[in-house]
Amino acid sequence: MLIAQLDSQQQTSLDSRSNEILEKVEIQEISKGGYLNTEHINAAIALLRTEFPEIGGLFNVQWGQNLSFPAIEKDQWIQIIHTSQNHWITAAFGYGKSTNVLIYDSLNSRCIPTTHTIYCVAQLRHSPDNSLKISLMPCENQEDGVNCGTFAIAFATALAFKLNPSELRFDQTIMRQHLINCLLNGKMEAFSVISTRKNSNWRPRKQLSINLNCICKMPFSEKDCGMPEKYRKVVQCLSCKIWYHPECESIPDTVVGDKNSLWFCSQCRARKRKRNSK
Ligand SMILES: [Zn+2]
Ligand SMILES: [Zn+2]
Repeated sequence: MLIAQLDSQQQTSLDSRSNEILEKVEIQEISKGGYLNTEHINAAIALLRTEFPEIGGLFNVQWGQNLSFPAIEKDQWIQIIHTSQNHWITAAFGYGKSTNVLIYDSLNSRCIPTTHTIYCVAQLRHSPDNSLKISLMPCENQEDGVNCGTFAIAFATALAFKLNPSELRFDQTIMRQHLINCLLNGKMEAFSVISTRKNSNWRPRKQLSINLNCICKMPFSEKDCGMPEKYRKVVQCLSCKIWYHPECESIPDTVVGDKNSLWFCSQCRARKRKRNSK
């Protein structure tokens, strides 16, 4: 039985499910109660993408594993992200009048996102300035520790349907069956709620501001979090003191390998040329 075919427009070589389909037996696995796998999440995302083509993001979650998310141009986007610690969360932008990226985490809505998550969000947001602003949003907690995927889909679906996830208390007893039905029917519907609480102001639990570097506007962490090689090295410009990735700024190996070398970024070099030519 053919179900939930992924949109071919948003696939790259990374997308191992290009032209693959989620079979009925794979969908029924969801009822067994374990973690949702990448294929389940991608199938739900593909349905949202088809139903809400105006919303940005909703990319294949595998792109996040290698930090291959593209920057999103649209005013509104939603993305489910694997935190690298067996956990799914939902990030969104353009909702509730905030210019911050909103994060919905069903384990703990005060928990600082993992470094990997912050890198993913920075890549998607491609902030116009040198800081990334994140709001940790209040949301319902999962009760059994294995439902982060179900909740991440429920939060993403709520946003797509213009609902405020902070206001919703889902009926946890039927969430998985609801997801199964949606995947079998090939159409996402908002998840049933048992009650709603008033949170019309979209106030976050906590806000974070993360420094960004380089022309690619990414954070830098000394920790090796399985980052691609490109993001692990940085060189500081002697003039503006901003850190740059050798690959992004074509910094020669001789400079990268020499701690005492004096290096100026392309912007500072251009400014200097302009001054000298006057
Ligand atoms: Zn860079
Ligand atoms: Zn500079």
